[in-house]
Amino acid sequence: VDGAIQADVVIVGAGPSGLFQIFELGLLGIRAHIVDSLPHPGGQCSELYPEKPIYDIPAVPVCTAQELVDRLLQQAKPFNAQFHMGEEVIDLQVLEDQSFLLRTSRDTRFHARSVIIAGGLGSFQPRRLGLAGAETFEGTNIHYKVKNAAEFTHKNLIIFGGGDSALDWTLELAGKAHSLTLVHRRAEFRAAPASVAKMRELVSHGSMRYVEAISQSLIITEDVLQGVRVKTPQGRIEELFADHLLVFYGLHPKLGPIADWGLDIDKRAIKVDTEKFQTNIPGVFAVGDINTYPGKKKLILSGFHEAALAAFAVAARLNPSKKIPLQYTTTSPIMQKRLGVA
Ligand code: FAD
Repeated sequence: VDGAIQADVVIVGAGPSGLFQIFELGLLGIRAHIVDSLPHPGGQCSELYPEKPIYDIPAVPVCTAQELVDRLLQQAKPFNAQFHMGEEVIDLQVLEDQSFLLRTSRDTRFHARSVIIAGGLGSFQPRRLGLAGAETFEGTNIHYKVKNAAEFTHKNLIIFGGGDSALDWTLELAGKAHSLTLVHRRAEFRAAPASVAKMRELVSHGSMRYVEAISQSLIITEDVLQGVRVKTPQGRIEELFADHLLVFYGLHPKLGPIADWGLDIDKRAIKVDTEKFQTNIPGVFAVGDINTYPGKKKLILSGFHEAALAAFAVAARLNPSKKIPLQYTTTSPIMQKRLGVA
């Protein structure tokens, strides 16, 4: 397939299941490409609860979620997987020879002999503003991420949110924008206290405004976005005018494009067998939170077991004539060579 990256296997999703999948494939001599819509690996662990302790990883009495991710990355390192972060896999096509063509949101294309979907609860998407008419202005006047900060120089900005992204961008843009107002719905912030203190200092110097309020409706005249109406805790409606609205309400997972690939889906999870963790499409496997089968438990350790068996199934598919013996890392010279320890 012209212009596509040739791959034995593409892993969709770099949460704990996808990361351990790299390792299990690597032990069997298979190098993977791995794609995630987030800019960094780690899935829910890194995105939703990096600092929280986990107590049910075998042989690790306690570690934080981010530590687990870091260790999985370190363990997978010898296998040199190619990471494609910040790209959502939006399309999967089955080709005539039972290989696959995958396409990402950045138009990276893979021609893959097998696919392992480790998509968790789905790809993380920004929480939207949720005001009538907002979609029309997405990417022009309403932004859920900053692609090019220079675009906001000398502009009137409203930033929504109370987490680190909202505060970091507030501090970054306050000196550069023509005007900047931070809108947050309550007095408590999730962001680092030091950032909140800096923001309050900017407010006291008159460099920006802070408004505690909930967004109500967009102000639009003749198809041009003028700003937003907000409601204060006292119930007063205030009109705030701006060229751009920057919304940082955090990310939440959505099953997303995976739903349209012809996979057998039950309650937002992909049905698999428990021998190979193969889906209804031969050559497409699913591991971790994204799959379902009788007795499924959405735990990190389930994903690890599933990844081990899926790796054997991928190896068998890539080399149908070869028997894949079970080997122990303790004693297998070939595995130790692959691990770089022999
Ligand atoms: P995820 O971690 O969800 O990762 C999936 C990745 O796939 C995501 O990064 C997503 O962006 C990506 N993705 C999806 N679709 C696409 C696409 N189309 N293109 C590109 N990328 C895509 N489990 C435990 O075992 N023990 C615990 O103590 C525990 N505590 C938890 C605490 C909290 C607060 C939460 C929220 C969960 C907890 N869990 C715990 C559950 C655990 O985090 C999940 O079981 C685990 O993260 C599943 O891993 P995964 O790799 O299957 O999926």
